[in-house]
Amino acid sequence: MGTKGLLMVISGPSGAGKGTVVSELIKDASFRLSVSATTRPPRDGERNGVHYHFIGSDEFDKIIAEDGFLEYARYCGNCYGTPRAQTEEWLGEGKNVILEIEVQGYKNIKKKCPDCVGIFIMPPSMEILEKRLRGRGTEDEATIQKRLKRAESELKLAQNYDYIITNDSLEKCVSDVCCVIRAEELRPNRSG
Ligand code: 5GP
Repeated sequence: MGTKGLLMVISGPSGAGKGTVVSELIKDASFRLSVSATTRPPRDGERNGVHYHFIGSDEFDKIIAEDGFLEYARYCGNCYGTPRAQTEEWLGEGKNVILEIEVQGYKNIKKKCPDCVGIFIMPPSMEILEKRLRGRGTEDEATIQKRLKRAESELKLAQNYDYIITNDSLEKCVSDVCCVIRAEELRPNRSG
């Protein structure tokens, strides 16, 4: 009987609200959130080792060479990767591990770990997405434009996920994600 935790991938365009959904989920002690490595510079208020491991390109390439990432991808000019060791340790302890990553990373990880559960958080509309992205006030105009363009291509890939959940109300969205997770935990054919 397997006791391995569930590997959950949560994706969605920048501004879809996946970060807020994830912060609600990790209030439950059975969840762990993987802290990614990135070459993107920290935003105001972001802390190293908490929001990301902020590293340079050389270090990022070194980790790739050592096969230290479960997956990695480029997104709007920066590199992002999921450190392998921590995730594997948590799964082995029976914790449910959440990866908050973009669509290319999901595609790669689904190939390696077909048991992982992919949830795509859909914004209610592009207009609302743009409003949320601007409302954050963390990005300059050029970055916002890049992210909006990227969002359009990401929405087209939502069909590759196991579940698509629209985030028009945070409470409803979190509740839907919890239903999905519970249902997945109860599947008899999970090979974990
Ligand atoms: P941000 O710069 O807004 O923090 O993140 C940009 C995008 O990169 C988001 O869609 C986020 O989910 C994704 N991301 C964060 N960490 C990783 C990772 O380790 N791997 C991949 N593939 N994407 C990531």
